[in-house]
Amino acid sequence: MTLNLLQAWQGAKKRLETAGLAGPVIDARLLVEAAACATRADIVGDPYRALTPEQEATLEDYLTRREHREPVSHILGRKGFWKIMLNVTPDVLTPRPDTETVVEWVLRDFPEHAPWSVLDLGVGSGAILLSILAERPAAKGLGVDVSEEALAVARDNAASLGLAGRVALLRGDWTAGLGEAGFDLVVSNPPYIASAVIETLEPEVKDHEPRLALEGGPDGLMHYRVLAPEILRVLKPGGRFAVEIGYDQKDAVEALFREAGAQGVQTLRDLGDRDRVVAGAKKPLELQA
Ligand code: GLN
Repeated sequence: MTLNLLQAWQGAKKRLETAGLAGPVIDARLLVEAAACATRADIVGDPYRALTPEQEATLEDYLTRREHREPVSHILGRKGFWKIMLNVTPDVLTPRPDTETVVEWVLRDFPEHAPWSVLDLGVGSGAILLSILAERPAAKGLGVDVSEEALAVARDNAASLGLAGRVALLRGDWTAGLGEAGFDLVVSNPPYIASAVIETLEPEVKDHEPRLALEGGPDGLMHYRVLAPEILRVLKPGGRFAVEIGYDQKDAVEALFREAGAQGVQTLRDLGDRDRVVAGAKKPLELQA
């Protein structure tokens, strides 16, 4: 049977609904758009356009994979984040809207044309770092990741966004090898899920996303214990930081940064009104009278 765009979308919605997936409407639209090489506007403006047999076969493949709980970002190999589109593979955490809270805070506080430097620890796909650099044309960035495969994805993204000239992407274990007081801003979305909780997550996350990017040890806080003092070490005096946290980690992570000497430590909430980002600053230099 030849399907048109509207029928394809309705059929896809029904299948994903029947499979019990959360968010079947958006997933169906994204998969139909990609399979049929159509835009969102085409589905509304040209609903009777027929899919080719190849497009129908592609859609069938996409829907079957989604029914088996493969994330849409892996099926399509990309994911929109903030204002950019990123290539995504199973080697990186799929960028999540919650993480945009970090970007929003940075853009509110950092001037547009100042030549400041930003370090992203555990850069993954580059979502945070590249979103910031895309909007701050004088800023320069360094992204560090322990995974060579993740760095390849980040490099690819930097190149396709035209940002490769302002970003360095290096393999490293957090801040090991970085000198002191180098950065105006440090951002990070470290792995923060407690080990025992991983098995309770949705199959899209548990079975398809890299454990390395998710698991934060027995209590989920393992990496912040290393990061809090290290972030304060690599920040310039007066420099600022913002790290993503799990919704129930506010008190513990704030305490770690205060113990490390951070000032103005505060927690920002995400669009779902959950605690999501701990931000603060390194003490500025005291001016001598
Ligand atoms: N927010 C992600 C999740 O709940 C976890 C991200 C992370 O560990 N940094 O799946």
